[in-house]
Formats: sequence, C-alpha cells, structure tokens
Amino acid sequence: MTEPDPILRKKCEPLEGVNDHLRNLMNDMLETMYEAPGIGLAAIQIGVLKRVVVIDVSKKEGEKSPLFLVNPEIVYKSNETSTYEEGCLSLPGQFAEIERPAECKVEYLDFNGKKKQLDAKGLLSTCIQHEIDHLNGVLFIDYLSKLKKSMIIKKLKKQKQSVERIVV
Ligand code: ZN
Repeated sequence: MTEPDPILRKKCEPLEGVNDHLRNLMNDMLETMYEAPGIGLAAIQIGVLKRVVVIDVSKKEGEKSPLFLVNPEIVYKSNETSTYEEGCLSLPGQFAEIERPAECKVEYLDFNGKKKQLDAKGLLSTCIQHEIDHLNGVLFIDYLSKLKKSMIIKKLKKQKQSVERIVV
C-alpha cells in the first residue's frame, strides 16, 4: 500500500495472542521487508489491519536480528529528542528529517506470544515509533508542514499515475 491510499489511515486492531497463522504472517512480512529493502514494516502496509510490526535495524550484511512486535505499546518516551532522515515503504522515494523522542520503552508480545519489554534508543527507537504510528494510521509526513506534506502527496499521486500508465 502506498500513500495516498485510505487503508494507510485506518487504525489497526489488537491481536488476542500469537498463533501459527500470525507467525506465518510475520515471516512473510519479514521477507517482504528484506526484499524491499527496509528496516521496518507494519502489517497495515501490506493491507492487514492488525497491530503487528517487524523490524531489523542490524547494519552488517549477513547478520540478521529480526524483531517481531505484536500489540506494541510505547510506555515511556524521553524528553530528549533525536532527528533522523526517515523514509517509508509506503512513501516510495520520499525522505524527510523527523524529530522524535530519542529513547522509548515498548511493551509487546514476541514471536512466541511472550510478554516483553524493550528499551530502545537511536535508530531502533525512531524505527519503533515510526512503525507504531502506522498502526494508528499515522505517516511520517504528518509531522511536516502542510505545504511540504501536500507537495509529497502530489508527487506520489503522479508516480502512481505513471506506474499505472506503464502497466496498462
Ligand atoms: Zn513506514
């Protein structure tokens, strides 16, 4: 799903637990994310309106360390902020510097349905916040000025049209 698509603005439903069906979905999501390539993917980005996120911010090639977050919830955000240039698989080719809390603590169910807590900082903290935003229908362009946001949406609409032209 790419912006503008109304699905991306929906709020995702929590899951009751983790079963094999969900584990299959998470594995599919991880594959899609690695292929893209991206460092995070929320289920809503592939049209599944559930509160599931996969993340892998490991930088070294061949060293994968996937993180599966089911029903993730941020329970702490630092006052201190950090700024990263963010991109998004749902906003192809678009990047912008976004300021967010530098550290956060997230509660979630892991791949096996175990309740976990994670203290995140740096890129991981930003990535977790970006992905949890997706679950609430929020995109990083929502943090930009109205003008910048509408310029990006205009560009994406044009991109979509030209892609359709080629396909047809
Ligand atoms: Zn995104």
